[in-house]
Amino acid sequence: MAEFVPLRKGQTLKLTDGRTVTVTDKLGEGGQGIVYRVRYDSGEERALKWFFIGYLKDPSKFYRHLESNINVGSPSEAFLWPEQLTEYVSGETFGYTMKIFPKGYESFSRYLLAKTRFKNVAAMVDAALNIVAAFKALHNKGYNYQDLNDGNFSIDPTSGKVLICDNDNVMGHGEYSGVLGKARYMAPEVVRGDKQPDKSTDRFSLAVILFMLLIGNHPLEGVKTNYPALTNKYEKKIYGTEPLFIFDEKDPSNAPHKLLHQNALRLWGFFPSFIQDAFRQSFSQESLLGGKERLLEQVWFNILMRLKSSLVRCPYCGEEMFLESDRATVCQSCKRTVKAVGHLEFGKRAGQDVTVPIFKDAALYDYHMNPLSEDFETRSAVILEKPGKFGLKNASNYNWKIKTPEGKILTKQPGEVLVLGADAKIDFYNKNIAQVIVNN
Ligand SMILES: [Zn+2]
Repeated sequence: MAEFVPLRKGQTLKLTDGRTVTVTDKLGEGGQGIVYRVRYDSGEERALKWFFIGYLKDPSKFYRHLESNINVGSPSEAFLWPEQLTEYVSGETFGYTMKIFPKGYESFSRYLLAKTRFKNVAAMVDAALNIVAAFKALHNKGYNYQDLNDGNFSIDPTSGKVLICDNDNVMGHGEYSGVLGKARYMAPEVVRGDKQPDKSTDRFSLAVILFMLLIGNHPLEGVKTNYPALTNKYEKKIYGTEPLFIFDEKDPSNAPHKLLHQNALRLWGFFPSFIQDAFRQSFSQESLLGGKERLLEQVWFNILMRLKSSLVRCPYCGEEMFLESDRATVCQSCKRTVKAVGHLEFGKRAGQDVTVPIFKDAALYDYHMNPLSEDFETRSAVILEKPGKFGLKNASNYNWKIKTPEGKILTKQPGEVLVLGADAKIDFYNKNIAQVIVNN
């Protein structure tokens, strides 16, 4: 086998589309190869991933695989997708170009090690929504990820925007890259060797990523799994044959360790019941051992939108908190109890409740105005408070139609404020109706 020769500064490479790029710099090095900065004749810059000789078991098959992914195209802007392949160099190796990693993004691993923090809770929730949206786009395009883990994600701590890199192993459904992924992120049936990665195992990995993003620890690492050294045998047990959720309601034997899993102990109670339920379902024994009960991306999307709309500030201490729509919530910062006077209740989406607490500064997004919209960034309405009453300000482009319990019909145009009265029904757009429910 030929020896690996790194690329030189000034070296030119021919791409399959006929253009050439010149190597200008080295950007980084990983287990699979080296990433260089390259420049087109037009001056445009790209990153070029150059594979180590010997890394690829079947180079020509992998080349065709990348070629096919380039032709199908990127699922969404969140992916740093391969753009152009180089021609083979000395019949042994090759590389591909992609966009250069933008500044400001931090690897998800750094968040897990507490080396980076989100600017605020809203940015963290947006990151979760962006991850779910990216995986929905990936699956819709007919791919699955196969080796999802914390090294693949980078997140902007201010905006919550997500970039997914290392997309080389993304495969069409039914194909298998031979890459097993990191055990901590793999579905138990893959760890056990019962199954190859697919859409369903990707969904398990997605739930792990979301849990780690929001709760800050691993869902299966508790007191029971605190082994002195993580050998293959223990790894298979924890993540494969005997997995047990740290917040399993029926079996508390793998609860978080009070020193090792302080994030989990501190943050679990910060999240509303519907988020806890979603994780309990994702990591139930039915999911862990039977591969069932896994949440579709669309379900997560609706759950996370509900979370986003429940983000308010505690009236006592001013800290950010998630307020339940229909019941009292204890502020985790000052331990005082906060309760909304009522909530807005929409029709269910993907089987999930859609509610917003009636509480100062709680916001609705374009998603709430129009059931077909997946826009979770455009604020379309905000709840205002005046002594003794609450209003809903129309910040959208829609004319709202309101029906009061007495049968009176009102219209609220963009910029106007609706005073929220018990049992009123608000038609935001095209019979997308929310009802004002007063809490007991
Ligand atoms: Zn408080």
